Amino acid sequence: MTFCCDDLRARAEHTCDLHPDRWDCPDCLVTRSSRGTFGLMIHDGGTSSIRIAFCPWCGARLPTDSDDPHDCRGAADGSQG
Ligand SMILES: [Zn+2]
Ligand SMILES: [Zn+2]
Repeated sequence: MTFCCDDLRARAEHTCDLHPDRWDCPDCLVTRSSRGTFGLMIHDGGTSSIRIAFCPWCGARLPTDSDDPHDCRGAADGSQG
């Protein structure tokens, strides 16, 4: 696994001695799934995360679940013929 930038790698791999479980650590912001996708960690007591498609730091495209049926349609422009 390669990271697009050191910032993302540092955030995704950050651990601290106080919190063996990254989900308990408020300093941990990014999680990486076994599939290689990335998400923003939501510290609400659980392990929820918001998947991100682009690196917040350098803007590079991040891996996404190929089998995830996302249906992104851009805003339709009203141009006609
Ligand atoms: Zn911590
Ligand atoms: Zn990056």
